[in-house]
Amino acid sequence: MRTQLVVQKFGGSSVANPERIKRVAQRVVDTKRKQTHVVVVVSALGDTTDELIELASQISQEPPERELDMLMATGEQVSVALLAMAIHELGEDAVSFTGAQVGILTDSTHTKAKIVDISAHHRIEQELLKGRIVIVAGFQGVNLNQDITTLGRGGSDLTAVALAKALKADVCEIFTDVEGIYTADPRIVPQARKLSAISYDEMLEMASLGAQVMQARSIFVAKRFDIPMHVRSSFSLREGTMIQKTAKSMEDIVVSGVTLQRDEAKVTIRDVPDRPGMAAEIFKELAAKGINVDMIVQNVSREGSTDVSFTVVKSDLPATLRVSRSVAHRIGAGEVTTDEEVAKLSIVGIGMRSHSGVAAKMFEAMAHERVNIEMISTSEIKISCVIRKIHAERAVRAVHRAFGLNHAPMRRKHT
Ligand code: ADP
Ligand code: ASP
Ligand code: MG
Repeated sequence: MRTQLVVQKFGGSSVANPERIKRVAQRVVDTKRKQTHVVVVVSALGDTTDELIELASQISQEPPERELDMLMATGEQVSVALLAMAIHELGEDAVSFTGAQVGILTDSTHTKAKIVDISAHHRIEQELLKGRIVIVAGFQGVNLNQDITTLGRGGSDLTAVALAKALKADVCEIFTDVEGIYTADPRIVPQARKLSAISYDEMLEMASLGAQVMQARSIFVAKRFDIPMHVRSSFSLREGTMIQKTAKSMEDIVVSGVTLQRDEAKVTIRDVPDRPGMAAEIFKELAAKGINVDMIVQNVSREGSTDVSFTVVKSDLPATLRVSRSVAHRIGAGEVTTDEEVAKLSIVGIGMRSHSGVAAKMFEAMAHERVNIEMISTSEIKISCVIRKIHAERAVRAVHRAFGLNHAPMRRKHT
């Protein structure tokens, strides 16, 4: 039988301080001593990436993205070196690498680059055969010009999945500060339940719709190459959640999770002439600037014009405003307004394909809380609503409860 190969990824909270780094080292060493080859991917310590971005903002409001990548990538370089030292302290041999050293080749889209190849994975394999533990810096790669790139926030998950694919790992374990994937963010819904398994499709939707526990792109890659993933706690030995292919039993569950996204803003272009081609004019120009538009609503036409509203991620707002104002002027539309006090609440579940009345139940739960729905969008396995941000957490808890996802309450002891 061939020796097992596991990729273990530890997130920022798991390596936030020296004590935690030592605990991670112990866990990795324990795995290695079970006759397993271990490749470890680590994120930057704690909130380092946020702190680096904040530091940059004190120098420049719009720093060149190449330089931002150069800066952000330093975070992971600190953690790989410290973890290697901690493993040496425990008497095992470990070697740390940057993304560039193991040939994580990406395109040139700085701050959200895509991995195109891992050209030096044989280097990792050679080190493993020497009995070493290999530690790779998450979140970073290098483009064809040898410039350092980063893979988008949460990108260490993607590094782990891509390495699991390149090395044909038996499993990719994602260690984090919760015990797995829950029916909702446990910080918002304390009664949320841990799922023992979730399909790639549901996890992809949940991640894209605000469940920050996994980076969406990493799930896309895991699904494409059918890489089994196990999301679990770095603070306990309990089993977490398997992310895997759809199993028949999963379809009986109508809603698997409720998510909340708070980083979108609503943009409204008033008095757009109600003529063919106007929507095309607006959205073509936004697309040309690389702006991803999410939900779109066009109001009922009155006196030959209509209001068009759509949402974009907040970081795209300045560019969106520039483009929208210039198009509005050209096509003879009215003013462009923005609203950052919105949030998007979504429910996700592959069981929706075969059950009816799901939307009605969601809307009813919100109506009961007197939460107004401003925009709605649906797809085969999700329903999203834009609501006021101040009501968001209360609405998530109400919807979570309405679909029966809460933990069974603890029984009170009879005395
Ligand atoms: P790491 O530093 O390990 O990458 P993250 O902060 O990226 O950790 O992700 C873990 C956090 O994701 C948890 O602390 C939790 O609050 C949040 N989260 C949001 N939605 C979910 C969910 N559905 N299940 C589990 N955790 C979730
Ligand atoms: N350190 C990076 C971030 O905070 C990558 C990661 O943690 O996955 O986004
Ligand atoms: Mg993360």
